[in-house]
Amino acid sequence: MDFQLSSEQRLIQDSIRRMVERDIQPVLDAHDPDRPLPKEVVRKLLELCATQGLTSARVPQSAGGAGLPVLTYGLMFEQLPPVVAFAIVGQEATATRIALESSPEQCERLLPDIIAARKIACTGSTEPHAGSDHRAIKTQARLDSDHVVVTGRKMWITNASICDLINITATLGETSDGTNRMVRVVVDREESPFETSKTPCLGFCQGHLGEVVFDACRVPKRNLLGGIGDAARVLTLTWLANRPLFGLMATNMAQRALDAALKYAGDRTQFGRPIASYQLVQELLADISAAVTTSRLICYYALSAIDNGDRANGASAMAKRHAIAACQRAISMAMEVHGSMGISCEVGLERLYRDCRMLPIPDGTNQILTLIEGRELTGFAAYRP
Ligand SMILES: Cc1cc2nc3c(=O)[nH]c(=O)nc-3n(C[C@H](O)[C@H](O)[C@H](O)COP(=O)(O)OP(=O)(O)OC[C@H]3O[C@@H](n4cnc5c(N)ncnc54)[C@H](O)[C@@H]3O)c2cc1C
Repeated sequence: MDFQLSSEQRLIQDSIRRMVERDIQPVLDAHDPDRPLPKEVVRKLLELCATQGLTSARVPQSAGGAGLPVLTYGLMFEQLPPVVAFAIVGQEATATRIALESSPEQCERLLPDIIAARKIACTGSTEPHAGSDHRAIKTQARLDSDHVVVTGRKMWITNASICDLINITATLGETSDGTNRMVRVVVDREESPFETSKTPCLGFCQGHLGEVVFDACRVPKRNLLGGIGDAARVLTLTWLANRPLFGLMATNMAQRALDAALKYAGDRTQFGRPIASYQLVQELLADISAAVTTSRLICYYALSAIDNGDRANGASAMAKRHAIAACQRAISMAMEVHGSMGISCEVGLERLYRDCRMLPIPDGTNQILTLIEGRELTGFAAYRP
């Protein structure tokens, strides 16, 4: 067992850190932290990430992607500012899903624009009445000669309000035994226009979580992906690595909170001494540090298990659930170290707190992840009647 990163892994991390410091953070700082970034700015940031393989990390090289081990992807991803990581999840996972279930012709036609970030992409599964139970989706895909006619509504979709293309899960209806015949359709906004709107919410305020409405939207049949029944499998496959990635997003936030708390505790004097010299403040710092380390390691562990081809459903669910909960607590403790300054907008911890609170929901809520772990431990699936 080796807990050290290889020199190659360190170099990769350093190169992303340098890109963030030089090219990404200044752009984020130049914009209002509580307003969505303009579409062109997001596109340019994604374009920068594309140069490092981040928009196509899991897409095989044969399909034009970076084809990275998911642990390497995680090491890179962890360095990204949260709002950029959030946009990357939408972009990269969409490219990966398309690569997983498309024909070579579809890959060749659809992937280059997403990988190069000429088009902003997203994946739409969630609907008003289908969240955790994604097999309950109702968005209709009706075949009509050489088109698929899509009608329905997708909600809480990352990148939705500025997307050029969405990969949706829709239904062709039910079979005689009541099985939902789910399919994937790539809807390109230019050739098949649809409406989108931004959903104002607690965190990732520079990001673009939103809603998409399809009103008898006509999509060329050549954009129908995979076979019937593949859609649920492909969603699950990408969620497997996405979950520890969300955990690493939280780890990035908790690391920032730790850095801020350490600095503040050293600078701030009360009762004639730096507050860092008081044992109870040291306890807070030690607990934050433990949260950062355990979160990072559990996510690396899950990603490494996926790379090794192990069954990683439980490890991946555990990594997301543990890391996000631990990092939420860590950010809150860092706020405590700062006293009143912790809740001020000036220090930025309140933003991390709000952003981190967004993370337990996508790609498996805490309850669903708990039940996935429970199924791994007991052999009983408790989340379906
Ligand atoms: C930041 C963010 C980004 C997102 N990005 C995307 C995206 O890009 N694409 C996309 O399709 N969706 C996206 N989503 C939506 C997200 O995947 C869903 O919100 C999530 O699956 C939960 O669905 P829901 O909100 O309908 O909650 P529900 O499924 O209605 O759950 C409500 C509550 O009931 C609990 N619950 C549900 N079923 C069970 C059960 N069987 N046992 C125990 N408890 C249960 C849940 O844990 C939760 O606490 C995003 C959401 C967020 C917040």
